[in-house]
Amino acid sequence: MAFTNQYLADLYDKVVARNKGEVEFHQAVKEVLESLEPVVEKHPEYIKMGVIDSIVEPERIIKFRVPWVDDSGKVQINRGFRIQFNSAIGPYKGGLRFHPSVYEGIIKFLGFEQIFKNSLTGLPIGGGKGGSDFDPKGKSDMEVMRFCQSFMTELSKHIGADTDVPAGDIGVGGREIGYMFGQYKRLRNEFTGVLTGKGLTYGGSLARTEATGYGLCYFTEAMLNDHGDSFKGKTVVISGSGNVAIYATQKATQLGAKVVALSDSNGYVYDKDGIDLDAVKEIKEVKRGRIKEYADTHPSAEYHEGCSGIWTIPCDIALPCATQNEINEESAKTLVKNGVKAVAEGANMPSTPEAIEVYLNNGVLFGPAKAANAGGVATSALEMSQNSQRLSWTFDEVDAKLKGIMENIYANCAAAAKEYGLEGNYAAGANIAGFKKVADSMLAHGVV
Ligand code: NDP
Repeated sequence: MAFTNQYLADLYDKVVARNKGEVEFHQAVKEVLESLEPVVEKHPEYIKMGVIDSIVEPERIIKFRVPWVDDSGKVQINRGFRIQFNSAIGPYKGGLRFHPSVYEGIIKFLGFEQIFKNSLTGLPIGGGKGGSDFDPKGKSDMEVMRFCQSFMTELSKHIGADTDVPAGDIGVGGREIGYMFGQYKRLRNEFTGVLTGKGLTYGGSLARTEATGYGLCYFTEAMLNDHGDSFKGKTVVISGSGNVAIYATQKATQLGAKVVALSDSNGYVYDKDGIDLDAVKEIKEVKRGRIKEYADTHPSAEYHEGCSGIWTIPCDIALPCATQNEINEESAKTLVKNGVKAVAEGANMPSTPEAIEVYLNNGVLFGPAKAANAGGVATSALEMSQNSQRLSWTFDEVDAKLKGIMENIYANCAAAAKEYGLEGNYAAGANIAGFKKVADSMLAHGVV
């Protein structure tokens, strides 16, 4: 798709020139700006008051050295980032990613997406994201602890329960959040909800671990129901085998579907009898092993090297839950050829723009990441509320709120798409609905 609005086309060129080589960020900005074309036609005040120019520029970028000592006594140096992108509707909120591919462009794209996602939840949270090029894979617990302590030593100067509340993302789960929380508490001598995704013994929320995967399925079920369909009896392919993938598998199965494939960054397993989730949890959550090991103990399963082959498995519903740009045009065409009915994104930006075009042109129901995976951050915001109240809600209470939030997000995306003449295009609907709340708040705040 090309821009028809010259102002937005020029602004996009400016973003590319100012953020050289940050291709993931360019991709995320382009997708949002294209969706905003009908909005700026109707609301020229957003352009006049510089709202769109402001929204593509982070409020603050923090970049720092993270020195730590490995088990052999050698000093290691990593890079840390926190991008505080937009605080118009609440304190910055967004995960930390520890993965060797992390650089400023990845964190910027994730932080930018987070603004709209957080707005869609209906909760008062702004957008931010952070992380490091540290790779937790293959590191001992003590190495991970030393890294997390060093990372938090710098990060603690910039965050706070009313300022910026990070959470987990790729490579950052309960273990890492625990080490970072411990260090923050020690440095600041305060026990506050400065991180979410905490353990249940020290302020974590029930259902936060499950929230992104469960939320993805609640969103998808709402989208399917609106089209007279449901998960019941469907064959589902899910990529990844981390936090999001595991709990998406659990909820899709509870809703009556059969999940037949999962993956990691080395390859994928296909189990025609349906994935045995307890075995996956044991491999990934307890042993921190590889998905390949699943096939060793399950004769009904095949293991294949490489990630993209997972999209050649025929399925009714595809839930990409690993990483950005994991479904390209070719994979999308294969999914369509094999009769996929719905694609909903658990990962952030897992479909390339060309893949999205393929879904939309072939009548595939498409749940975009910033709407479909917003359940994680929504439940993080519920964790913040519980911490502020110094109360803990039950699993069922949190889960019921999550389900209601995801159904609302679907309804709002559908309504916004319809209002702007793009009925059924939930990607555009998510961008528009997420944008408007933030933009109106920015207008109210003046030029700041
Ligand atoms: P985890 O670290 O728990 O799991 C990530 C999974 O994706 C692993 O199976 C990993 O394989 C695989 N993966 C990671 N990088 C790549 C890659 N470059 N190529 C192929 N596979 C890869 O992370 P999460 O489950 O938390 O996050 C998954 C996605 O969901 C991310 O896009 C994240 O931003 C998004 N997300 C997460 C939320 C959350 O609450 N956790 C909230 C909203 C979105 P391996 O083990 O081999 O690295």
